[in-house]
Amino acid sequence: MYGRNGYDQLGRALLLAAILCVFLGMILPRAVYPFFLALQYAALIFCIYRALSRNTFQRQKENAWYLRKEQAVRGWFRSLRDRWQQRKDYKFFRCPSCHALLRVPRGKGKLLLTCRKCGNRFERKT
Ligand SMILES: [Zn+2]
Repeated sequence: MYGRNGYDQLGRALLLAAILCVFLGMILPRAVYPFFLALQYAALIFCIYRALSRNTFQRQKENAWYLRKEQAVRGWFRSLRDRWQQRKDYKFFRCPSCHALLRVPRGKGKLLLTCRKCGNRFERKT
């Protein structure tokens, strides 16, 4: 494996996607089975190709792209979890003009909120 890219995070994700396709192919109707079979093979072939590739610079670029996307998805779920945990103490609003998320303590009556990002002011009941 000297000089080869090997198994990385994107390789792991491709392998998991292939395994997921196997299960989806078993659960879903017979008509879509060939589609998931093709997807499964494509993921496996790409995973093996990436692991054996000597063009490590390109493979690392692909992996870095994948890690950025994965981080964005994990961040979204983390923010969802945080909002759920804080739902009894805070209320969350979106700024009408820039859609930034604002966190306001609950039970303070009607408040005039100022967006930190764009400075827009709007009234909301907390
Ligand atoms: Zn704003």
